[in-house]
Amino acid sequence: MNIHEYQAKQLLKAYGAPVAEGVAILKADEAEAAAKSLPGPLYVVKSQIHAGGRGKGKFKELGPDAKGGVRLAFSIEEAVSHSKEMLGNTLVTAQTGPEGKQVNRLYIEDGADIDRELYLSILVDRSVGRVAFVVSTEGGMDIEAVAEHTPEKILTLPIDPEAGVTAEDVAKINASLKLEGEAAKDGETLFPILYKAFVEKDMSLLEINPLIVMKNGRLRVLDAKVSFDGNALFRHEDVRALRDTTEEDAKEIEASKWDLAYVALDGNIGCMVNGAGLAMATMDIIKLYGAEPANFLDVGGGATKEKVTAAFKIITADPAVKGILVNIFGGIMRCDVIAEGVIAAVKEVGLQVPLVVRLEGTNVELGKKIINESGLNVISADDLDDAAQKIVKAVNG
Ligand code: ADP
Ligand code: MG
Repeated sequence: MNIHEYQAKQLLKAYGAPVAEGVAILKADEAEAAAKSLPGPLYVVKSQIHAGGRGKGKFKELGPDAKGGVRLAFSIEEAVSHSKEMLGNTLVTAQTGPEGKQVNRLYIEDGADIDRELYLSILVDRSVGRVAFVVSTEGGMDIEAVAEHTPEKILTLPIDPEAGVTAEDVAKINASLKLEGEAAKDGETLFPILYKAFVEKDMSLLEINPLIVMKNGRLRVLDAKVSFDGNALFRHEDVRALRDTTEEDAKEIEASKWDLAYVALDGNIGCMVNGAGLAMATMDIIKLYGAEPANFLDVGGGATKEKVTAAFKIITADPAVKGILVNIFGGIMRCDVIAEGVIAAVKEVGLQVPLVVRLEGTNVELGKKIINESGLNVISADDLDDAAQKIVKAVNG
């Protein structure tokens, strides 16, 4: 689960991290009061969307010459005029995809006098099985490009979970970021604070790009991106309250209500499968035969008819889906339950695209019988290979 920059900053501020003062607004007529409450004379108006690269992003409606999604304002009037121009428009960044994201919220923040922009993130480094800091002097820009062209400018520092962030770790990070004097002292307090927040809140990513050294020699968190581990959300009511569903894929929200493991993808073959392994194999074999899956969907082991119906409806509601493959191995799951769920869903929402069903396992004969007698135009398949070929053929002709 992701949150907005302004929420991430509030969270980090509560842990004692140095962040600027700022006010989040939803309407342009709130901009003046928001800016007036800040010290000035420099203000920054920042689009709040769940995607990075906002500064270099472009608003669809405003043309290529208009300013981006993070704008400096040198007066209160300018902060207001930026707010009016930005709110409600669609920001396209390197991370939003070409369709962009509508900016429904702005964060008006105190402007900082920047001396240097640094990169700092904390993530789970699976190669060493530890939480690690990733830092670089090359902040404010695309860290993937830094990793590709100048990997020597990035330090990855795994943290021992028993010891936490030690004085030695801090010294390594400070040296790598070339921090001295006041800034290095700020680092001594900041790095353990960030680690504590990461661990206590079950984050999966905390990215500060940039962390800045200000002209006065102090550190400040200038941007913040936080993702939380979805499997740990049950124990963080405060974090769940930060969820902004308007930023999420509507199909994924619906799926999470039904406790379905669903991820939207770019292809055109909708898949309904049980078991994560079988779902992966199904996606692979669709690709093998030259098509692309529209989603990953695992209905799980003991799904009810209602759950299967919900899953099928989510798939058919996606206009990108040009064909559906139902691939079920009934172990705990019974094939007749799947068949009934599919038929119930089709009765409700209709079936505009070819449907291939492959059933195997518990109650398979009954499942096939239910589908055959339903009068639905279903292409049945005998095994995974056969099923994949049939759906790809039905979609691609
Ligand atoms: P994004 O990464 O989505 O482009 P950032 O928050 O990193 O958004 O902002 C982009 C750039 O805008 C920063 O690298 C920095 O140069 C500038 N910037 C952002 N916030 C401030 C601020 N409060 N004061 C001064 N400059 C800022
Ligand atoms: Mg940034």
